Amino acid sequence: CGIIGYSGHREACGILLDGLERLEYRGYDSAGILVSDNGTFHTVKRSGRLSNLRAAVERHPLKGCCGMGHTRWATHGGPTDENAHPHGTERVMLVHNGIIENYLELRGLLTEQGYSFLSQTDTEVAACYLDYCYHGDPIDAIREALNKIEGAYAFVIMFSDHPDTIYAIRKDGPLLAALGDGENFVASDITAVISYTNRYFVLDEGEIAVVTPRRIRILGMDGKPREKAVQTVTWDI
Ligand code: GLU
Repeated sequence: CGIIGYSGHREACGILLDGLERLEYRGYDSAGILVSDNGTFHTVKRSGRLSNLRAAVERHPLKGCCGMGHTRWATHGGPTDENAHPHGTERVMLVHNGIIENYLELRGLLTEQGYSFLSQTDTEVAACYLDYCYHGDPIDAIREALNKIEGAYAFVIMFSDHPDTIYAIRKDGPLLAALGDGENFVASDITAVISYTNRYFVLDEGEIAVVTPRRIRILGMDGKPREKAVQTVTWDI
């Protein structure tokens, strides 16, 4: 339901939790964050209020300067800790807003390939499908997976062997990439990051944002760079 991602020079954990709090107004039933500690993913997920997640994170702080967070509004699978996002494998993790229409077909195909699932969500199937398509080039994997994945989505994706890069893509769900100073963000809406920056790109359908601490690149589905105008918010929250 709400999405935030961060890649920069500061510890990501607090920035992700603050961003999720700013997205609380959208409604949710569970939440989770992932921080990459140089490519090792650490995840904390909790059903219920964000304060549950914050309390769990305060007991075991997550170290690292790149990560993502999600507030979930369950559509497939109940609002449990296990069903909260992020989902995926040791090398590919993602958060997702929306619904994957053909997740049963994909789950069957992946089960035959030896994948097993920890949750009841459509999202975990999409994450594992992306893992299945991954042969070392994240953009190729995203393009190949999205050829097959049907439905409505905003995805923020991380690959463990690209530890400071966030990939964002959307279809029928809002997502933007916001420009900071030595740090960059993705978010489902600008309120999540407005205390850090007011400059952002709105992602169009079929565009992939590649976000590192130093730059945001926008690619088309053909893998070629796109020129995008930066938008500016002129109000403060
Ligand atoms: N369909 C996904 C799930 O149930 C995502 C729900 C959402 O948009 O928060 O986990």
